[in-house]
Amino acid sequence: MVPTGHPSSFRPAWRRGQKFDASASNRPILVFENVYKAYRADQPVLRGTNLTIERGDFVFITGPSGAGKSTLLRLLYRAETVDDGRILFLGRDIARLTDNSVPMLRRNIGVVFQDFKLVPKWTVFDNVAIALEVLALPSRIIHTRVGEALERVGLSGRGSDRAAVLSGGEQQRVAVARAIVGEPALILADEPTGNLDPLLATDILGLFEEIHATGTTVLFATHDRTLLDVRPRRVVVLDEGKATDVPHGLGMAEEDDLDNFGESDEDNTSIDNETPRVVTPTDRLAVA
Ligand code: ADP
Repeated sequence: MVPTGHPSSFRPAWRRGQKFDASASNRPILVFENVYKAYRADQPVLRGTNLTIERGDFVFITGPSGAGKSTLLRLLYRAETVDDGRILFLGRDIARLTDNSVPMLRRNIGVVFQDFKLVPKWTVFDNVAIALEVLALPSRIIHTRVGEALERVGLSGRGSDRAAVLSGGEQQRVAVARAIVGEPALILADEPTGNLDPLLATDILGLFEEIHATGTTVLFATHDRTLLDVRPRRVVVLDEGKATDVPHGLGMAEEDDLDNFGESDEDNTSIDNETPRVVTPTDRLAVA
């Protein structure tokens, strides 16, 4: 799906003179340098993780449930902080951003979650518009951009429907629209197809492919092996606290690289999956 309308009409306000750092354009968009993260001292999740993501990449982050995929993504939008090591986003050390700069970081990152995190009683339009309303943009501009985002995800004409009446696949499309409406440099997808049947999962993956085709860097975390086969993409396996590239895509992977995949959800120890979080508008704004 190609965005319609003039490209300049899709520019977020913060692009005007507030870019992170012009000299960052030649740097990788993301660098993890020897990152350590533990929630409990005796059970470190990331143990010296190194990973470089170039601008415009589409990268699958995969690995067994509990390997730390969500943690890795949460560190990126500073919902968590590293214990040691550095994460550079466009050359800037995320841990060293001031409180004032964290919103700027988050505006450059769109996040899509497994459980959509929509407000069911809000309209589709409002669920997407919230990401721009925090920026205090004129409502005319918000209307245009939300309309464009909904068109990109194939939901034109659904803006006035309440989110609750949409199917799961459609709700995830709304969440994708919310993530892209600010035209972030980086999209993080945290098991975005985990609640969808296989056909819808492939559909949603296709949507991320289309977003990627317009120049956005995509990090797509999943433990669903079937998705990795859809198209040859860079695949990074997270296991035992380390990130390792699968050489030449999944077809060439050693069995050991992909051990424990496809396990049942019962084994999933992710906090995100275990504890339904109460979603407040602030939560959503923080990641918009
Ligand atoms: P994945 O996304 O690969 O399933 P997670 O990053 O969700 O992995 O979790 C990695 C490990 O960290 C798991 O053992 C999980 O239980 C634990 N964990 C995740 N978030 C928290 C948290 N907020 N507090 C304590 N432990 C956590």
